[in-house]
Amino acid sequence: MNRDKLLWKLQNIEGKGKTAVELYHEISSACVNEILSEKQKAPARCAYYFSVEYLMGRMFFNNLLALGILDEAREIFAAKGFDLNVFEEVEDAALGNGGLGRLAACYLDSAANLGYPLYGFGIRYKYGLFKQKFVGGEQVEEADDWLKVWGDPWSVRRSDEKIEVNFADMTVTAVPYDMPIYGRSVNILRLFQAEGSAEAEKISEYLYPADDCEEGKLLRIRQEYFFSAAAVGQLVQKYVKKYGKNFEHFPEFHVFQLNDTHAVFAVAEFLRLLTKEYRLTFPQAVEVAKKTFNYTNHTILPEALECWDIKLVEKILPEIAQILTRLHIFAGREWNICGYPKPEIAEMSIVRGGKFSMANVAVYISGHVNGVAEIHTKILEERLFAAAYRHFPEKFLNVTNGVTQRRWLLLCNEELAKFYDERLGTAWRDDLSLIRNINCGDAETLSAFSTIKAEKKRQLAAYIEKKEGVKLLPDAIYIAQVKRLHEYKRQFMTALAILRIYFDLKAGKLPDFTPTVFIFGAKAAGSYKRAKEIILFLNKIAERIANDEDVNARLQVVFVQNYDVSYAEKIVAGSDVSLQVSTAGFEASGTGNMKLMMNGAVTVGTMDGANIEIVEEAGKENNYIFGASVEEINALENTYDPITFAEEHPRIKRVTDTLTDGTFEDADGKLKDLASSLFKQTYNRADHYYVLYDLLPLVDALLKVNEEYKDKTLFTKKQLENATHSAFFSSDRAIQTYAEKIWGI
Ligand SMILES: *Cc1c(COP(=O)(O)O)cnc(C)c1O
Repeated sequence: MNRDKLLWKLQNIEGKGKTAVELYHEISSACVNEILSEKQKAPARCAYYFSVEYLMGRMFFNNLLALGILDEAREIFAAKGFDLNVFEEVEDAALGNGGLGRLAACYLDSAANLGYPLYGFGIRYKYGLFKQKFVGGEQVEEADDWLKVWGDPWSVRRSDEKIEVNFADMTVTAVPYDMPIYGRSVNILRLFQAEGSAEAEKISEYLYPADDCEEGKLLRIRQEYFFSAAAVGQLVQKYVKKYGKNFEHFPEFHVFQLNDTHAVFAVAEFLRLLTKEYRLTFPQAVEVAKKTFNYTNHTILPEALECWDIKLVEKILPEIAQILTRLHIFAGREWNICGYPKPEIAEMSIVRGGKFSMANVAVYISGHVNGVAEIHTKILEERLFAAAYRHFPEKFLNVTNGVTQRRWLLLCNEELAKFYDERLGTAWRDDLSLIRNINCGDAETLSAFSTIKAEKKRQLAAYIEKKEGVKLLPDAIYIAQVKRLHEYKRQFMTALAILRIYFDLKAGKLPDFTPTVFIFGAKAAGSYKRAKEIILFLNKIAERIANDEDVNARLQVVFVQNYDVSYAEKIVAGSDVSLQVSTAGFEASGTGNMKLMMNGAVTVGTMDGANIEIVEEAGKENNYIFGASVEEINALENTYDPITFAEEHPRIKRVTDTLTDGTFEDADGKLKDLASSLFKQTYNRADHYYVLYDLLPLVDALLKVNEEYKDKTLFTKKQLENATHSAFFSSDRAIQTYAEKIWGI
């Protein structure tokens, strides 16, 4: 990339008389053209990432930073009287729901920056993740028409590379939009848009609402097959053109990574193409597939493990249903010959109870199966895929998730980046492990870090005031719980803990309480009623506390609207404390925890997901671990009775009573339903997520933070210990591991 040439081009962009949108397009296009003009030849062996979600966030600042021209561009346009910060209004590219989609984005960023040839495939949704507003404390969803105002100048439509995808009842044209990902190498994220009949175009209209509720199954199957088939179709076509129909060498040039099971139809499509179009025998095709595919599991939640009704698949994809059935028989025969016990074969089977288990397809075909944190991989091996692990232990490995320090440190916290530059030079930017060399005991260093944290808190408060119209308490501890709203993430437990603190404050039992602000950000899936009730409950608590003169100078709750990547950038930089309180065993990894740690927040968390590795890196003494471990939870499973538990703990009962005793107005019974989730068998057993069991330990952990925060030097040191021990959680490390251990690129 010719940096000077690009800057010269920007210099020559005429600012006068142009709208912000016009300038946005001109600047972005100049960058894209410059990037693409030097597109290197792809190496022979490449990795391909199949993900139904990419939560990219705003591209503008990130790309200018990657190009190394962000500061200069700001100056150039400031001189023309135009402030680039206007582009903070540009919509996020929110083509993902949460962690899984953001991980895909971080991985693309790291691969390009490290120079690994990793190409992404996905869907170009017309509407991304819904926009969230609160009306009367309740979530209201609006379509995310992200292309409407600002368009998408960071992508290039490639009509010349479109490909047809066939369903029993329609043919759909998949048109690629290529988004260059700039780094040491220029990689491409290729998102397919569905074109054709009105029905066909529906396929790329909406991002699937969530990973935890079942909705529009046929459309979902169409989406999954659509992009998988388009991607596989193109790669196979290109291979045949270049190397002919001998597929033995296909795995030498291609390695596929399935980001969860959403693209497992790619396996079936691959087998279909090789057997039907290119006349390989079924066993030959399976052999090639086994050397090509790999699978990352992201969840053990049963409701998120995809199983598709065979009848449903047969209806729109009869050939694919046939292939999967054949694969089921083929794998079964293989396992029988090996003499595996029947129950284990049943456990690993592709067809189970009239459904295709997409995870079992993935595990069978993949050379490598990985979990996303140590504990998660262990759970995969011991529980979810126990039979497969017993027979194919060599397939399994762990790759703990990571986040890119470019967006989650350099971009969102340039003050902290400068702090490192001044002390370490700039080499740490590419090798994050160097930040370990900061001396956390040095008084001047601590003071400098403390100043930065205060500044980021001030910026966050200003942003929240602008967005939400709420003034945050000054000189307070900022505690953030930001992530999708889900029962297992236990925002509900935090709500009850806040009520506990509220009552104690009001009763004068916490005379030395340091003012504290709880910041929540979370979207609830549109059909996930209980998650929406938790939002409402938290908003009611926020309102109650705000209106209570006895406490409102010391305690505050703010639930920000429309939590997204851009909001996350502000919150992770401006928080003191990171709440990661999932029920042990349920959060596969978490990545929000890593972003907050990287910016120097201490973790109040359970021994779950990557929290375990966070405290391994940063020290248990620098974080606040509480609550039941996986082993404890497992042991409790048959004996835990939340009703008795609450009766035995009046401090718990006092706060759960507020759900039903009229403390809060509840005409439509929403809070009552929340109480039911704790005390009654509903779709889960009573208090399935052990909210009450871990509640008082959470309160204690929060009060311990509150006490220790008073010793500013000590607390700042804990924060800095976290920030400077976060290198392991760089997605550069994760991508390096994938590249070395799985991809061989
Ligand atoms: C990082 C991120 C997530 C994932 O957060 P977790 O705490 O790991 O669940 C979700 N949404 C957004 C916008 C993010 O940036």
